[in-house]
Amino acid sequence: MLNIILFGPPGSGKGTQAILLKEHFKLLHVSTGDIFRNEIKNATNVGKEVKQFLDAGKLVPDELTIRMLGGYVDANSAPELQGVIYDGFPRTVPQAKALDSFLEEKRSSVNVVLSLEVNDEELVKRLINRGLTSGRSDDSNEEVVRNRLKVYYNQTAPLADFYLSQKKFVSIRGVGTIDEIFAHLCDEMYKLD
Ligand code: AMP
Repeated sequence: MLNIILFGPPGSGKGTQAILLKEHFKLLHVSTGDIFRNEIKNATNVGKEVKQFLDAGKLVPDELTIRMLGGYVDANSAPELQGVIYDGFPRTVPQAKALDSFLEEKRSSVNVVLSLEVNDEELVKRLINRGLTSGRSDDSNEEVVRNRLKVYYNQTAPLADFYLSQKKFVSIRGVGTIDEIFAHLCDEMYKLD
């Protein structure tokens, strides 16, 4: 059972590459951002609770995020899948620790953290561009976009050390064509046993 974390700032291409990896390696794709957007779209209680955080580009509280993640993985696991690709989770050290415990209960663990590296100006450009077509309110406003990057550097980037110390962190150049970046990611996947 593989557990792959796709790591990187907003706009680094995690969503795009996660879909390619999911198809190629038969993985369950888990995007906490998609889970929350779906709850908002369906106007559920969780959706109402998290909307303010997504609109402001702030992180949803850990407890709720961890609960949603666990519920989604358990509800969508299937025997034909080779594992899970986590996209946008974990984003804080407590989330990473919760993921470790969740996997430990299943006698499993994180195999590798693949980190897409893209510079800030490119990220802002990509996110604003995506906002023109995605309909995502958190992409269309430059102030919210810059706030998401700030949140990433303050709360999520420290996770790199958490996984570096476990020798699970691999940096991947996130600039280039989609195919080039996918090829680099595949190279790392093939190194896993
Ligand atoms: P994303 O689609 O991954 O860019 O996530 C969009 C938004 O969903 C983020 O800006 C947060 O408000 C929320 N979100 C997604 N994943 C998480 C997470 N792991 N922890 C907290 N908030 C999250």
